[in-house]
Amino acid sequence: MSQSSMSEITCPACGSKHEFKVWDSINTKQDPELKEAVRTGDAFRYTCPDCGATALLNYNFLYHQMEDKYMVFVSVEGDAWNQMMSILSARQKDLPDYTMRIVRSYNDFREKLMILDAGLDDRVVEIIKSSVWHNVEETYADKGIDEILFAMNDDGEHGFLFRSKDKMIASMEFDMDLYKVVKNAAESRLDFYSRGIFVIDRAWADRVVGEMG
Ligand SMILES: [Zn+2]
Repeated sequence: MSQSSMSEITCPACGSKHEFKVWDSINTKQDPELKEAVRTGDAFRYTCPDCGATALLNYNFLYHQMEDKYMVFVSVEGDAWNQMMSILSARQKDLPDYTMRIVRSYNDFREKLMILDAGLDDRVVEIIKSSVWHNVEETYADKGIDEILFAMNDDGEHGFLFRSKDKMIASMEFDMDLYKVVKNAAESRLDFYSRGIFVIDRAWADRVVGEMG
């Protein structure tokens, strides 16, 4: 089930202190309204009752989309990494058909959810991103791109967003035909490369691309 606790938040604008609900774990089967609230960020947005300022709070939690056998640990603060790894390793034994991930930022978390919502395999998306990164570094090194995120626009079209210092500077359409080609080519070996691995990110994809050739 979902678990939350009250935490004292100091408003970044006026300094006043108020209690705010923070989530230790979110289970969308038991609390379906949270499914949307984590995607919009509302679940983590604090609004100061005194001055009205808003802030997106960063903290660690477990997101469990039980109906889709999907679990992701969001590890954005402190040193919870090893603990999360061992919890997921233990759970994986009981839930072998689950997809389990660990991410290090809210952006990475929301990207994982968008890939999940689009019905895509995040391992294939990361492999495609790996070649996009390669291209960016060869051709657009001067743009200072430090993040490439899979995303969906208001029209429901998927693409990659290119970001520099938290600002979007370009975007690129998602090539579904390419996705299918890469998926078919990699499918037989994806499980081998991702078994027991919870962090499916650029480093993982670069390694897999290097080994698969
Ligand atoms: Zn305030």
